[in-house]
Amino acid sequence: SFSSFGGGDAALGGSGKRVPVGLKKPSKRVVVTGGAGFVGSHLVDKLLSRGDSVIVIDNFFTGRKENVVHHFGNPRFELIRHDVVEPILLEVDEIYHLACPASPVHYKYNPIKTIKTNVMGTLNMLGLAKRIGARFLLTSTSEVYGDPLEHPQKETYWGHVNPIGVRSCYDEGKRTAETLTMDYHRGAEVEVRIARIFNTYGPRMCLDDGRVVSNFVAQALRKEPMTVYGDGKQTRSFQFVSDLVDGLVALMEGEHIGPFNLGNPGEFTMLELAEVVKEVVDPSATIEFRPNTADDPHMRKPDISKAKELLNWEPKVTLHEGLPLMVTDFSKRILSAEK
Ligand code: NAD
Ligand code: UDP
Ligand code: UDP
Repeated sequence: SFSSFGGGDAALGGSGKRVPVGLKKPSKRVVVTGGAGFVGSHLVDKLLSRGDSVIVIDNFFTGRKENVVHHFGNPRFELIRHDVVEPILLEVDEIYHLACPASPVHYKYNPIKTIKTNVMGTLNMLGLAKRIGARFLLTSTSEVYGDPLEHPQKETYWGHVNPIGVRSCYDEGKRTAETLTMDYHRGAEVEVRIARIFNTYGPRMCLDDGRVVSNFVAQALRKEPMTVYGDGKQTRSFQFVSDLVDGLVALMEGEHIGPFNLGNPGEFTMLELAEVVKEVVDPSATIEFRPNTADDPHMRKPDISKAKELLNWEPKVTLHEGLPLMVTDFSKRILSAEK
């Protein structure tokens, strides 16, 4: 089979020299789709640093070469410009499937492309996983809960989603991706994992992706007013990216399929978030109210008891600790772009 053909170098270890079995753990070969993006690039850093071989598949829609350029020259790293909507042949042990624009500005830019990425892209990666016997992890989203009628949201909640709205290409796209994942598991014995990720922030986020943390930080750094949509009383919980990456790896390596909520349960209104940004970036920062967008969920907060119990995972970085790390990265990038 292709997988045993491709698996021939599994006993070679990182150095390329054949090592006696049992002496050294063979390094894993891992695909990260969307690996040039915000979350993906941090995941790639972690996998490479522990000795895995990593192939990034990315079409650079929202990802950037700069996010992974520090690995160029590493023989365990490969970057392929490829669109997951098209099939691909590779031989690996694990597939982390992240490819999909994540911020509303990006996923609404071309909704047809977004739903194709979620449906055809996920189908292709599951077909690949099936053919080579690789374990497959889907990065789904808290948006599968829609505008939730249950608070906080547990994994057992089925959601409250508009199937024909402007966010549906993303919400319903991810719901379909979850369905595909479970059908390949039940129908084709693919080993699968599903993460439902809640709002995540950190260094390497797109500067102008329109998400609230990147907007507020960039606005405060540029001495512009922070734009609060609606009355600012809607809530979100913000997870620092390193916590998410730890959770994704724990999920991939654990025994449980999921879905698992991965998020930080600390809940903030947008007005409270603006206060924290003000403290960290600039005490003289101001806010300005703007009309809210359609279908904006009023509250969102993960119930992470399942991940705590079964993955032994919980976030460690608070908003007050994580935000300064993002601010350092943003201020460098804003300075160099506006020089
Ligand atoms: P991102 O936009 O920074 O990264 C997505 C990456 O996928 C980019 O590098 C982009 O170029 C690539 N991509 C998009 N469409 C592609 C295609 N058709 N073929 C190949 N590559 C493609 O977003 P992110 O925040 O890093 O999100 C990563 C994953 O996590 C996404 O699946 C997203 O839905 C999920 N997620 C993220 C958050 C969050 O708060 N960041 C929350 C929930 C879920
Ligand atoms: N696929 C892929 N790489 C592979 C195997 C499959 O991209 O190594 C794609 C394939 O082109 C198809 C999808 O994954 O579009 C689903 O594959 P599967 O074998 O499940 O379905 P089928 O090809 O039988 O429709
Ligand atoms: N938001 C805001 N100001 C901004 C951008 C977003 O007040 O400049 C609000 C938005 O209305 C929403 C919340 O912040 O209620 C989170 O929005 P984001 O787009 O970051 O993520 P999502 O809606 O996907 O959770």
